[in-house]
Amino acid sequence: MPVTREEAAKIGRRTAKAIETFTWENEEGVLTLLNDATTRACTFLLTDSPDVDAPGLCSIYEFRPKGCQMYPVVLNDEDRAVLDDGCPHPAGFDAPGDDDAIVLLNLEERMLRGG
Ligand code: SF4
Repeated sequence: MPVTREEAAKIGRRTAKAIETFTWENEEGVLTLLNDATTRACTFLLTDSPDVDAPGLCSIYEFRPKGCQMYPVVLNDEDRAVLDDGCPHPAGFDAPGDDDAIVLLNLEERMLRGG
């Protein structure tokens, strides 16, 4: 999950972890949460299983990043808000609209600007 630098700093403060221990930075300078080497899930997901559908709880739920709050709503290649193909329960969510796309585009812009 991509995160803004502000979100990464907040997670670091609340978990007492260095940002480098739970993120990696891509060539555009965008930080993304690391996955656990064993479970292959987000490093903050409390699970012991590598199964994609394994149950688990988010250990930073109260201050999880905006992208996590928005999921399974994501932007497609045309910058439209859609439900992610990888979501196992798409029927549980309303169809996203233009307001969702604006939120995600603003979030993406902040990430690319290093905010
Ligand atoms: S909701 Fe929590 S466990 Fe899931 S990707 Fe976001 S931070 Fe990780």
